[in-house]
Amino acid sequence: MQIQEIQAKSIIAPSKIPSCDYAINPYTGCQHSCIYCYADYMGFYSGHCEPWGQFVDVKINGAELIDDCQKYRGQEIMFSSVTDAYQPIEKKYKLTRQILEKLVPCQPKITILTKSTLVTRDIDILKQFENVQVGFSLITTNPEHQKMLEPGANSPSERLEALAQLKTAGIKTSIFVAPILPYFTKLEDIIKAGADRADYFLFDAFNRKSSKKVLSFIAKSYPQWLPKYEYVLRDENYKEYKSKLKEHIDKLMIEYKIKGKILFSGK
Ligand code: SF4
Repeated sequence: MQIQEIQAKSIIAPSKIPSCDYAINPYTGCQHSCIYCYADYMGFYSGHCEPWGQFVDVKINGAELIDDCQKYRGQEIMFSSVTDAYQPIEKKYKLTRQILEKLVPCQPKITILTKSTLVTRDIDILKQFENVQVGFSLITTNPEHQKMLEPGANSPSERLEALAQLKTAGIKTSIFVAPILPYFTKLEDIIKAGADRADYFLFDAFNRKSSKKVLSFIAKSYPQWLPKYEYVLRDENYKEYKSKLKEHIDKLMIEYKIKGKILFSGK
């Protein structure tokens, strides 16, 4: 794992995600090393030739770059869009924590999406924001599958426990079920496990943009599932797959009385 400290030119960038105004990525690279990661193009843009998951650039001056945060008052800021702000290296650098501390006086709306229980370390600061929510990504409750898919991240049970702690602390919580991977993602299991600790759920389908990496993983580790993946991803089948999936999620949301949003179109 190559870790290097860098001086960043900026730390808050306008977000391309529709529901967020800005994104903060305290790190470039991610130790969680998820096989389906959509952000791995960042390796190329940051001049790294190591595989995704094997390097992290620490934006060591990140907190100093927030000198006047008044313009972010009331704006929605997301941690993070192309890294995990609470990946293991955050334990040492406390960069995300320092940035949050600098933002408290300006009270932006804070959204955190993570796979790391380290976020619970910062409950004291998170509680100082009037509008804050913490989401955990969770695509399986099976610890063996999780370890293969997201080798550097916390286990499903650890994430669920952290969600409960956050909710008990009065922080709004969510579970982000994405990408929904055929065979791995048992939606009902996830909803059952998280319904009492997540205020709402978000669901997103398997994005074909990252299918190459996922398919090569399936071919190597679960070759018996490969035909199903290839079938689903074909142009003529993908829409029907999403439409059925949407129907299934709609039914589960009614059955388990959970609040949620489906982020993909069923058409
Ligand atoms: S936690 Fe997010 S950014 Fe990190 S490897 Fe996984 S999907 Fe990519």
